[in-house]
Amino acid sequence: MNDQTGPEDIRNKQHRQGRLADSGDFPKVILLDTVSFCNLRCSMCFHKDMKRQRGFMSEALYAKIIAEVAQRNPRARVWLVFFGEPFLLKNRKPSIFDMISHAKQQGLEDVVLNSNANLMDEAASRSLIQSGLDAIYIGLDAFSPEVYAKIRIGGDYARTVANVRALLRLKAECGAQKPAVYVQFVEMDANAHEKEAFVEFWQREGANVKIRPKVSWAGMVEAPNLVLGNEARWPCYWAMQEVVPLVVESP
Ligand code: SF4
Repeated sequence: MNDQTGPEDIRNKQHRQGRLADSGDFPKVILLDTVSFCNLRCSMCFHKDMKRQRGFMSEALYAKIIAEVAQRNPRARVWLVFFGEPFLLKNRKPSIFDMISHAKQQGLEDVVLNSNANLMDEAASRSLIQSGLDAIYIGLDAFSPEVYAKIRIGGDYARTVANVRALLRLKAECGAQKPAVYVQFVEMDANAHEKEAFVEFWQREGANVKIRPKVSWAGMVEAPNLVLGNEARWPCYWAMQEVVPLVVESP
């Protein structure tokens, strides 16, 4: 695996991915804070220090935002969670599955989730497939229970791996093309030695593997990899292309 990329390679890759293109008058990426809290306390996340109210976005506001995206830019990538865990919504009304189905019925083309998958049991995986979700990004960051326990504090490694494998199996059994399943590995000192084994295992399982560097969340978390003068660092384009409605209405 070669991580050595120069500024020109980075620029070309960003260009190919459309990340340098003008956003026009409507965001290309929208992250909705449908649930404001999480069931884990990961080491590289500042969620544990956040003081904001725990709650959920109202159904009315959610429907209003989806209607506007459908009208203005149905091709925008819409993340249905920002800093929260979507499966905390699996037993609510509307559930996360109802929300995905609604967005797809309104014509949104790229509806995605991120999750730690601890609560993604088999029934949830079936509902995800039926909902029409386009992609799910699952944070794992480890290839052993020991490293997982140090990073994904409060999570259950064995259960999570079983949940992801079950989703991949169910997708294959149903002949479903979607959701695309990504397993994510945020590279840190604590897990760097497991990166190759992680990639090898999950590629063999049929998942897409996403390796990404640690970020500091605007200085809230230590990220010594982000040093000034590091030309291999990707410039952050998030502020130019994304919008994040942070609204918590019901406790
Ligand atoms: S699962 Fe995600 S949101 Fe929750 S604490 Fe971990 S990194 Fe943060």
